[in-house]
Amino acid sequence: MGRIPRIDSSKYSDLTKVIGWFITLRWIACVGVLISLLVVNLFLEYQFQFPILYGLNGLLCVANLVFTVYFRAIKKRNLSHSEMIVFFNVQICCDYVLLFLVVYFTGFLENPFTFYFVFHVMLTSFIFSADVLIIYVGALIAVFAGVMVLEYYHIVPHYSLSGSNTEGYFRLIGPRMVGLCSTLGISAYLISSIKQRLEEKGAKVEVELNRYMHLDKLKSNFILQVTHELRGPIAAMNGYHEMILRGVSGEVNAKTMELVRKANRRTGNLLTIIDEMIDFAYMKSEDELKYERTELNMKEVIDGNFDVFMSFAEQRNIELIAICPQELTLSSNRDLLNIVFSNLINNAIKYSPEHTKIIVEAYRENNEIHLVIKDQGYGIEPPEMDKIFEEFYRARKARELERDGTGLGLSIVKRAIEVLKGRMTVYSEVNEGTAFHIFFPVDGGGNG
Ligand code: ADP
Repeated sequence: MGRIPRIDSSKYSDLTKVIGWFITLRWIACVGVLISLLVVNLFLEYQFQFPILYGLNGLLCVANLVFTVYFRAIKKRNLSHSEMIVFFNVQICCDYVLLFLVVYFTGFLENPFTFYFVFHVMLTSFIFSADVLIIYVGALIAVFAGVMVLEYYHIVPHYSLSGSNTEGYFRLIGPRMVGLCSTLGISAYLISSIKQRLEEKGAKVEVELNRYMHLDKLKSNFILQVTHELRGPIAAMNGYHEMILRGVSGEVNAKTMELVRKANRRTGNLLTIIDEMIDFAYMKSEDELKYERTELNMKEVIDGNFDVFMSFAEQRNIELIAICPQELTLSSNRDLLNIVFSNLINNAIKYSPEHTKIIVEAYRENNEIHLVIKDQGYGIEPPEMDKIFEEFYRARKARELERDGTGLGLSIVKRAIEVLKGRMTVYSEVNEGTAFHIFFPVDGGGNG
């Protein structure tokens, strides 16, 4: 089972995604600002510093172009986490500076769009830890206060929105400043405390999940031990029945023979179930299954599995056909591959009517080995297709046909294919048949 990711946004759980998202947002902002400037310039009567504002928007576009190009390049290079954080901070600083300049040249505290800083602060609070947030928001408030003082004492010019009448603006500059800065501070505090609570809850959920995973592993180990203990005596019973049926113990009357045959069939079924339980528990008992790969001849693997199921198929008058080039090989693990084949072939026989064919095909397609296990059986109803890989799920038809069955086979197959770094798809039509398609990388997809 995969490790549960830690829920911790301040540590940039998925920094690359966030950076990509910011770059897209910035492109939207570039277009939005340009359209707004054009509208104001052409249709409204505000006396903006248009050359400066177009220039700032151009600067934002150029900066974002650089970020985009750099981002594409580093995605291939796999930058370290700290380098990514530097890159991210550069972008955030650039956003703050450019937005500040746009606001300054469009009326500063007169401009209602100063409240757009709230969005920036909210995003910053959500992404960064409390210390970094204090630096960002503190610096922003300090710059606002500084420029306000400079404007008030006419050390820097005020670019008014309302033409030459700036008296009212300077009368209200203090309360405006307090209103804006307190909004920024409160937003930062609220978002970071909400985030902190979420993280605390996430940490609790993580602890609980780890506990459940641990219990689940204990349970799997317990099943593994018990089933191992059960397997021995039942296999022995099955063997003794077979000896009696083959006449090793001498003549037996017809009635006893019939009873022993029934007992043999039941112990045989029980053995199949126990084997599935063992495979299931084994697959779940470890986080990472350790297994060795060898170069396997696919024709040999398929024939080996056919040998195991030949008598079962003959009992049901089902023909097993292998289509596989003699020299086809795959770097894989024999036990896991046998688990895949044996479960799928067993199912194909179980869920097919008499006088049908089962075809097992293997061939190379580009860099993959493609395996197909196809039957002409009862098929699977469309609503049940999603569920058949769930543990213990058995479709209605299967329950009618076969009383004995665990519903574990396909979940074991799925896990084995995952471990072997393959993938699987299923096609099925009711009363036409089912085909399982499995793809494995030729080289086995790296080390296991
Ligand atoms: P089991 O065979 O023990 O019921 P599996 O996990 O192997 O459990 O399969 C789950 C369900 O998927 C089966 O109960 C059956 O309904 C369906 N199934 C699997 N393979 C086939 C197949 N080849 N044809 C039709 N149905 C299938």
